[in-house]
Amino acid sequence: MTDNQDLLAMTHLGETPDKYMGSVTPPVFLNSLHVFDCVEDYFAVDIFKDEYYYGRASNPTVTILEKKLAALEHGERAVVYSAGMAACAAAILAICKTGSHIICIRESYGPVQHLLDDFLKEKMNISVTYVEGKELKEFEEAIRPETDMIILESPTTLVFSVVDLEGVASLAKKHKIKTYIDNTYATPIFQKPLDMGIDIVMHTMTKYIGGHSDLIGGVLISKDEEFMKKLMVQRDWFGGVLGPMEAWLAIRGLRTLDVRMQRHHETTLQVANFLEKHPKINKVFYTGLKSHPQYELARKQQKGESGLLSIEVKGNLKDVELFVDSLKLFQIGCSWGGFESLAIAYTYNWNEEQLSFHNLTPNIVRLHCGLEGAQNLINDLKQALDKI
Ligand SMILES: *Cc1c(COP(=O)(O)O)cnc(C)c1O
Repeated sequence: MTDNQDLLAMTHLGETPDKYMGSVTPPVFLNSLHVFDCVEDYFAVDIFKDEYYYGRASNPTVTILEKKLAALEHGERAVVYSAGMAACAAAILAICKTGSHIICIRESYGPVQHLLDDFLKEKMNISVTYVEGKELKEFEEAIRPETDMIILESPTTLVFSVVDLEGVASLAKKHKIKTYIDNTYATPIFQKPLDMGIDIVMHTMTKYIGGHSDLIGGVLISKDEEFMKKLMVQRDWFGGVLGPMEAWLAIRGLRTLDVRMQRHHETTLQVANFLEKHPKINKVFYTGLKSHPQYELARKQQKGESGLLSIEVKGNLKDVELFVDSLKLFQIGCSWGGFESLAIAYTYNWNEEQLSFHNLTPNIVRLHCGLEGAQNLINDLKQALDKI
């Protein structure tokens, strides 16, 4: 059950209809600047106290969204960005310096690894150690005097490995290392990393928070008010702000986040159970199944699962292709978190190096179970699997 404060955060918190002529939804403040009666008023603006002078520094529609997100993740303040990747890059640049060492989960989101390996290594002499993340020992062994940041994802979004968040958080605190987690998969409905001691939570709002596949956006949240203020100022310098229309769409997405997540959870569990028994499937990757090697840890720190899962299809690459192409309701596409079901032959075109880095076969298909209903999805998977 979602707690009462969370339900209020998603519906009413941060909104002041009396200021907007009783409008039940807040206006989209499309203005780029605010004007003033006198010089004194202009210079008295405090952007940290919901005051506004220029849209890159702060915007009233964006502020409403930030208040809701901060409350939902049990943080002090949230700062939203033009994309999940903008949020991620902002966090890394705020924490690290030239020569920093980062420990990163091996299954973390691909573009994060590109940012580290193909940009920050060269530009800032940053070094990275990738760890599978299942054992605390791996983190402990990877720590160096110059380690400044640990980048986590739990569960990860291809093979759904889980990290002991409390364990890593307390280890990192001992060594004065900042911990960061991409919590997009679980959403704040199912997992609250800040309460487990993690320093910074990131979401791409493009996924479940938006929930309708109609916006790109990201957010950082933490309990450290001073750090968040710094991020807000740095966002003004970098300029990767979220547009007010996107903020409004994310506010609308939040209103139904709880009911959507409960439905994704129920649907996906049924789909996973169907797939696990199917003779043409080798393996199902999903933390909601007892067969998941970290099922117990997942139960300890997550209240549920969202709509993503992966399968390893039996047969050769032609079979994988035939299966995915035969799906009718699951559309072929790379994102997730929306109302719609999606399929992607994730490792189909991976080279040997990529496959061995992740210890996977080319037969991995990732599915997002949308809101079309479990039986419709199972029927679709059944007919597509019958083709191979
Ligand atoms: C999509 C995704 C991102 C990137 O989000 P954008 O809003 O597209 O920048 C980051 N992390 C995960 C796990 C994702 O799935």
